Amino acid sequence: MSVIRKSNKLINVCYDIRGPVMQEAKRLEDEGHRVLKLNIGNPAPWGFNAPEEIVQDVIHNLSEAQGYCDSKGVFSARKAVMHECQRKSIRNITLDDIYIGNGVSELIVMAMQGLLNDNDEMLIPAPDYPLWTAAVSLSGGTPVHYRCDEHNEWFPDIDDIREKITEHTRGIVVINPNNPTGALYPESLLLQILELAREHSLIVFADEIYDKILFNGAEHTSLAALADDVLCLTFNGLSKTYRAAGFRSGWMIVSGPKHRARDYIEGLDMLASMRLCANVPAQYAIQTALGGYQSINELIIPGGRLYEQMELAHRLLNAIPGVSCVKPKGALYLFVKLDPEFYPIHNDEKFALDLLQQQKVLIVQGSGFNLQDTQHFRLVFLPSVDLLSEAIERIAIFLKTYEQ
Ligand code: PLP
Repeated sequence: MSVIRKSNKLINVCYDIRGPVMQEAKRLEDEGHRVLKLNIGNPAPWGFNAPEEIVQDVIHNLSEAQGYCDSKGVFSARKAVMHECQRKSIRNITLDDIYIGNGVSELIVMAMQGLLNDNDEMLIPAPDYPLWTAAVSLSGGTPVHYRCDEHNEWFPDIDDIREKITEHTRGIVVINPNNPTGALYPESLLLQILELAREHSLIVFADEIYDKILFNGAEHTSLAALADDVLCLTFNGLSKTYRAAGFRSGWMIVSGPKHRARDYIEGLDMLASMRLCANVPAQYAIQTALGGYQSINELIIPGGRLYEQMELAHRLLNAIPGVSCVKPKGALYLFVKLDPEFYPIHNDEKFALDLLQQQKVLIVQGSGFNLQDTQHFRLVFLPSVDLLSEAIERIAIFLKTYEQ
């Protein structure tokens, strides 16, 4: 009998966050082991519940949410996103420029599918949130990774970006605050990126899903707020700030010289129509989430749970010989470096598997974020301080004797 194969479109598509290491964790759990899972930025299972008022709004509107809605989203949700644009100084946004999706994930894939032809290139940070790379490959484009510099707070290396722009480059992805590094980019750097975009007619894709998860009083500037003459697609949603990842609700905002992108926008509208609409009940959470009490602010200040967990995990990891990580300014992750003099790692997926099998701690290896080197891993600091202490102690024990 002939073998049934996946499509050629998927051959270069890779998404390791839920890859083989996670499958092994599942197998261990099925066998009855307790696995400490520090691998996914999913706040609710760690007790970071969504604000009660947004849950209640979904329940309250459930009976109104039985039918399909406009393929770009319900009015109240898009209106709320429009007001959010005013707060973030993103100008000239109408309801028509806003698309509600089943999470940012769906909109990322839509934005890439709508734009890229074979051989088109997309600049993506390394390390990245790997869905961006996967979505570019799936769309027939070529992901081209630009360097983010660990020795400079993981900021994008502007010279590297410049060198990698070719006649095929269509756009640049900027993840700010960044997953996996926790970096937050200053306005001066954003302006330099915009200058390159302007010079080479690139579209800017700004993934700002962590824009309100900021530590130590840091402030976030939306890329789209800094340029009216560069086409920007800005992405955000309920999954992180509002801890409602399971609602699958996000939005995309098109700003800048939209008249030059009429055809692309027509493509986006068609893709939005083809999936009829995003999950309607969850859209009723958006207005309350954006306009209501911003409970995330309590979690990210000293004494707040997320802040304290970040501080503790950062301190404990840096105390292990040969282990270091840049302190995150935002998001939910620590991107940890293993000094090759102490721990030469040739295969970081094997490293993650060995750690899982020996100590039952699940992290994601750096190469899962399209990083070339094998000396990094990502750890999520959503678990409680007790669990984080236990997991990091196990990592320290594991490293004491680990050799590859
Ligand atoms: N963008 C970034 C940078 C993320 O970290 C994530 C999820 O971890 C997403 C997008 C996907 O978000 P959503 O749950 O809205 O699909």
